[in-house]
Amino acid sequence: MKDWSLFPWQKAQWDQMVHCQQSDNLAHAYLLRGVPGTGKLQFAKALSAYLLCMNPQPAGACGQCKECELLKAGTHPDFTLLEPDDPGRPIRIDSIRKLNDLAHKTAQQGGRRIIILNPAEAMNVNAANALLKCLEEPGEDTIFLLVSARSGDMLPTIRSRCQQLNFSTPDRASAEQWLSTQLDDLSLVTQLLDLTANSPLEAKRFAEQGLLEKRESLADGLKGLFKGKVTPVELAKSWQSSDLPLALSWMIGWLDDATKLGLSADSDSLRNRDQLKMLEYLARKSDVRNLLDERDWLMSQRQSLMEGGNLNPQMLMEGVFCRSLDLVLH
Ligand SMILES: [Zn+2]
Repeated sequence: MKDWSLFPWQKAQWDQMVHCQQSDNLAHAYLLRGVPGTGKLQFAKALSAYLLCMNPQPAGACGQCKECELLKAGTHPDFTLLEPDDPGRPIRIDSIRKLNDLAHKTAQQGGRRIIILNPAEAMNVNAANALLKCLEEPGEDTIFLLVSARSGDMLPTIRSRCQQLNFSTPDRASAEQWLSTQLDDLSLVTQLLDLTANSPLEAKRFAEQGLLEKRESLADGLKGLFKGKVTPVELAKSWQSSDLPLALSWMIGWLDDATKLGLSADSDSLRNRDQLKMLEYLARKSDVRNLLDERDWLMSQRQSLMEGGNLNPQMLMEGVFCRSLDLVLH
């Protein structure tokens, strides 16, 4: 049951839940919180399988009983995974209202009913209040698993009704060990983990989606811009259909490192050592104050993009590249 199994760095949280189950001490709602890329959703699925399985083992669901078969087939009547219709949009209020009815019916398979909400902060106020109602009067044998990387954005009254399970990024050795089993090219492991702040799942996504190459091409674009080989408008054209929040976060990382160099930091402390030449150029050509201002501006643009703000991609990237050029031109 590949999608229904744990990651090795989640053992402490797992043991805690197995202990709750074995001592018949499960809460009605859990909040799985922590940084992105630590596999919280997959943990929620593994836990669902374990709690629904007719023959659960301490290591997880058996993978063979009728409940496990129904889960694998995606047809288990007592398992619900509720997500927004489109990534980045809120979960719809009528979906939450339906949950309320569902949570009070007897589970069809006669056991528990599990409801996962992911991401649990993706709700408007009305939907959150409807969810609060579900949590205040939970149905018998219904367990809610709320998954959130931004639990600070949730209603405090929702958070306080959940027991919390915290997830953090694994230590470097565990991250390296796991990532090495996932990649064909092991020479990339160190760089990928450096770039993703030690998040193994993000690192894997970088490798699978060719994001290292994409990042390299952004760096090349900037170097071309600084040398006058390409204009901001031309460069923006080749970036307007990309994952812009990610592109901006790369630039933010470069500005962070250039700032460190500007403050005479050792190059060993940089996260983007592969771009050292460009970073030194930025640090030489611009002062720390301008680098910091630029970083703040990029952060605010990135935030608007992630909140679904209505920014025109071409205009935005033209602005980004014009400002980058300004940084080095005086
Ligand atoms: Zn089973």
